[in-house]
Amino acid sequence: MKSKLAILGGEPLIKTPMKRYNSIGVEEIKAANSVLESGILSGFLGSWSPEFYGGKKVREFEEKWAEFFGVKYAISVNSWTSGLVVCLGTLNLEPGDEVLVTPWTMCATATAILHWNCIPVFVDIEPDYFCIDPDKIEEKITSKTKAILAADIFGQSCDIRRLTEICEKHNLSLVTDTAQAPGAFNGSYRTGTLAKIGGFSLNYHKHIHTGEGGVIVTNDPDLAKRAMLLRNHAETSVTGLEIEDISNMIGHNFRLGEIEAAIGIEQLKKLDGFVKQRQSAAKRFDEGLGSLSGLIVPKVRRDNTHAYYVYGLKLDFSKLEVDRSTLVQALEAEGIEGLAEGYACVHLLPLFQRKIAYGKNGFPWSYRANPDDYNYSKGICPVAEELHGKAFIGFEMCLLDLNQADVNLIIEAFQKVWKNLDLLAKT
Ligand SMILES: *Cc1c(COP(=O)(O)O)cnc(C)c1O
Repeated sequence: MKSKLAILGGEPLIKTPMKRYNSIGVEEIKAANSVLESGILSGFLGSWSPEFYGGKKVREFEEKWAEFFGVKYAISVNSWTSGLVVCLGTLNLEPGDEVLVTPWTMCATATAILHWNCIPVFVDIEPDYFCIDPDKIEEKITSKTKAILAADIFGQSCDIRRLTEICEKHNLSLVTDTAQAPGAFNGSYRTGTLAKIGGFSLNYHKHIHTGEGGVIVTNDPDLAKRAMLLRNHAETSVTGLEIEDISNMIGHNFRLGEIEAAIGIEQLKKLDGFVKQRQSAAKRFDEGLGSLSGLIVPKVRRDNTHAYYVYGLKLDFSKLEVDRSTLVQALEAEGIEGLAEGYACVHLLPLFQRKIAYGKNGFPWSYRANPDDYNYSKGICPVAEELHGKAFIGFEMCLLDLNQADVNLIIEAFQKVWKNLDLLAKT
């Protein structure tokens, strides 16, 4: 017997709200309190001095992060949005240079390029993995192209091997945005450590967090130095750090506080455990949802592991007669939280549609080109647009605590909706 769908007036399958994911425990509270008790909430000075590198906790956090991720340098920042600006700032870009970027990401990935008066050029995504598509990159490379900025979206790596080959062939810098994939692996390497420079977010919504924060990683000593300068009023310390090339050395205050760093040290210890929890929930979702007709569960790239920041589902309309909104409404009526229709098409934001960034006259597009040379129209990234507009449903995996029982209930709610698809098709 079929039980009546909640959207059609039946009882919801999930009757009580599920517990929220909370990565903060007694360890973080103790660590934060001990900084408070010391009275020193930041150890940075914005001029050339031993305090240029930050306080005790900031430096300890960075050392531990570098060791954990197997990189030479980890540079903390007050957000990963700041971190992206810093990463792009280390690459010796000239205004008007072009950077290839994915549209299927959080907007800060693309706006970091504009901050250096460079031009984001969007490349469509892979239909299976949602990352920038290596097959579509070379046709976008011009004499002005200087870098690729790839996002390890939803929790797994971009095609780092092919992107590295393309960058070597065309002399481009590869930058990765691994905000969503801390704790994932490419073979034996931690995702986010194989590009020239890249990094992670520590904002509240991510696997581990410090409220706000971010960490840049690189193995290149020169880039690390430039990143530390950009974080902390570069112009005052270029002499002290013996920087010859002072281009793009206008600094910021992107420094992380001691409380956040102390919390970050504790969060880092828990990262792999939190990721394993998400992986085991995802494995059960794969088993429970993989057989539902017209629903495609996420694929994991060969040699990758997935940290499941988002469990990304696709709808196959050759097997489904119900549209996405109706499905999501029916699932939500059964009590499932954390579903989102679509994800992002950054190129369609008003910023790009109108090419208005700095001032009103098309700068930076106008600086070395005719702004019309850059096309951000609907249609330039058909895969991302189709997924965003019609076929993709994201399930946010860092919203709920997701124990075994919760996972089972969510699967049952999907199964209940799928058993009643005939009724939804008629509504
Ligand atoms: C969260 C996120 C960012 C921004 O990080 P903040 O720390 O919030 O500034 C950038 N890119 C991606 C892909 C993200 O998920």
